[in-house]
Amino acid sequence: LYVEAPLHEGAQIPLPEAQSHYLANVMRLAPGDTLRLFNGAAGEWRAGVTKISRKAVTLEISAQTRAPAPEPDCWLCFALLKRQKTDLVVEKATELGASVIQPILTARTQADHVNLDRLRAIAIEAAEQCERLIVPEVRAPLHVEKLMANWPARRLFIADERRSAALLAPAPGPSALMIGPEGGFTDGELEGIARTPLVTRVSLGRRILRAETAAIAGLALLLAAEP
Ligand code: SAM
Repeated sequence: LYVEAPLHEGAQIPLPEAQSHYLANVMRLAPGDTLRLFNGAAGEWRAGVTKISRKAVTLEISAQTRAPAPEPDCWLCFALLKRQKTDLVVEKATELGASVIQPILTARTQADHVNLDRLRAIAIEAAEQCERLIVPEVRAPLHVEKLMANWPARRLFIADERRSAALLAPAPGPSALMIGPEGGFTDGELEGIARTPLVTRVSLGRRILRAETAAIAGLALLLAAEP
């Protein structure tokens, strides 16, 4: 269970109402039952239920069950999709291990609005489900030119269906994968992005993939080989 609280032995954690309701009324936990907690930074801890009512649950931490472990630093930058597809990409990118999820706006992007709270909740739920102890940061959408103007020292792989050089898992180090919109990047955008240092245009195979498939397949290729 993800909690927004410092985690250490003996800590008492009063849960917010929504999580209390879930544990008390859906999971039907009772005093003495145990569960595992994480907060995205301090590893995983075992906690027992000490107080429980329909709307208020308090947990007490007993011991650490997993130490925090470093993860690959790989961003996913993807042209914002319609709501359900964006939800899917955020869920799968969290499972696959993206460290930052950055929606981008491009000339052919067909959506420009996101509910960041909702996307962050999807990332938390996906992390809980796959037992990942770090929740990726979901950032507000940014125009691709703005993102590239401040591009940090980080390798960037642009998925480009017109290229034939396959995306191969790179040596460890900060990296990012960029996926274009359903209508593709414009030539001008691709040229602008390609002028940034540390950029490689890569293929994800010979077929034209849906943008969400490209995001998921590309991240799997980049992250599956990481130790
Ligand atoms: N420009 C194309 C068109 O309208 O015919 C298709 C764009 S594709 C649906 C959406 C995005 O997925 C692309 O911008 C690219 O980033 C990525 N993509 C899809 N298939 C790919 C492939 N085979 N190799 C690399 N990237 C791919």
